[in-house]
Amino acid sequence: MSTAETLDLATAEAPALVTEIPGPQARARIERDHRVTSPSLPRAYDFVPRRGAGSVIEDVDGNLFLDLNAGIAVTSTGHAHPDVVAAIQRQAEELLHYSASDFYLPIYSDVCEELDRIAPFAEGARSFLTNSGTEAVEGAIKLARYATGRQAVIAMIGSFHGRSLGSVSLTASKAKYRAGFGPLLPGVYHTVFGDLHHLEILFERLVSPSEVAAIVVEPIQGEGGYVLPPEGWFGSVREICDRYGIVLVADEVQSGMGRTGKMWAMQHFGVEPDVVLAGKGIASGMPLGAIIARDSLMTWDVGAHGSTYGGNPLSCAAALATLALIEHGLMDNARDVGAFLLEGLRAIGERYPSITDVRGLGLMIGVEFDRAEKMHAVEQAAFRKGLLVLGCGDSVIRFCPALVFERERVDTALRLFDEVVAEVSGATG
Ligand code: PLP
Repeated sequence: MSTAETLDLATAEAPALVTEIPGPQARARIERDHRVTSPSLPRAYDFVPRRGAGSVIEDVDGNLFLDLNAGIAVTSTGHAHPDVVAAIQRQAEELLHYSASDFYLPIYSDVCEELDRIAPFAEGARSFLTNSGTEAVEGAIKLARYATGRQAVIAMIGSFHGRSLGSVSLTASKAKYRAGFGPLLPGVYHTVFGDLHHLEILFERLVSPSEVAAIVVEPIQGEGGYVLPPEGWFGSVREICDRYGIVLVADEVQSGMGRTGKMWAMQHFGVEPDVVLAGKGIASGMPLGAIIARDSLMTWDVGAHGSTYGGNPLSCAAALATLALIEHGLMDNARDVGAFLLEGLRAIGERYPSITDVRGLGLMIGVEFDRAEKMHAVEQAAFRKGLLVLGCGDSVIRFCPALVFERERVDTALRLFDEVVAEVSGATG
């Protein structure tokens, strides 16, 4: 796509549907896909993207969709932001790869310097760059065990931390993610998100806090249903970690990088973690994640951890451009447009008894329905109208658009969502 085409698509009116949904090209592609791809891929609906710009995405049949998924909270600067694309192109012409684990890649430490500057704790930060969120979680488990000499890790019921064996051992949003893969990582315990009493029982009955290396927690549960913690809970968790020398790991793979209107969701709760994990939004769609740890914690020895591709130059170039955009306007936009969207969704929620809650911070908003079938029906019906939203938890529709999402597009999104809920309420009662 040329820059002019990108700009045209980014400002195009959307949705604009020109075929039935899914159209003939999409159906043909889905048929081919089903023959050769892993059946484990959890496709939400029959959307087959071709190109995107800003918050607009076109499918293979030429239908324009209004995208409130952003590739599942990833393309933070919008699809194909010209600054991000230009940064990747410049970097591609200079150097595609040189393992930063084995040599001194300048752009790798450029990104780490930025992460040090924005880290959500007063102490200096060191970072390890990864290819994905799950790899950041894996590294954090290793780091916490290494630094404390302890084995146990506590995670939350309802959490999602990824699908590789270590992180899936922490993941507890749906049993199907774990089924068939055991034995999982030993030494992992789960407690109830937001429930201090349950954590006390865990310490009394199951694992002594002196054996716990880390508490790993999403500040706002993502895949588990966009769940916010009760007020004050994080402060208590921080106190417990301080009392027993436990590393507090905030998994901000979904909630971080400005999505909630602050750089890190933890900053809404006034608590400093020891480690923060970034992923999804950090490089606007290029594969990158980060383990950002207090300087005094990341003291593992040479060779203890590494990665061939983690922090590859293209992803780092995208991350530097992304961060500049987030800090110069997009985080503020997420806060303001998010508040406007939340208010509009709350007004819709008041008119439909099937909507039981509307919650969120910035552009991380969940609308909860009384039944899972209703949520699924809404997700599908929205898609057929050209509005891309995605379910999470048991019965929540999540809104996680790009941080560029325009206030003017909120009206369209709300109107369509309202129509969809009305339709589904009429059909399913
Ligand atoms: N942690 C959180 C909070 C996530 O939301 C996700 C992905 O959804 C992950 C970790 C795993 O990230 P990835 O899919 O990049 O491995």
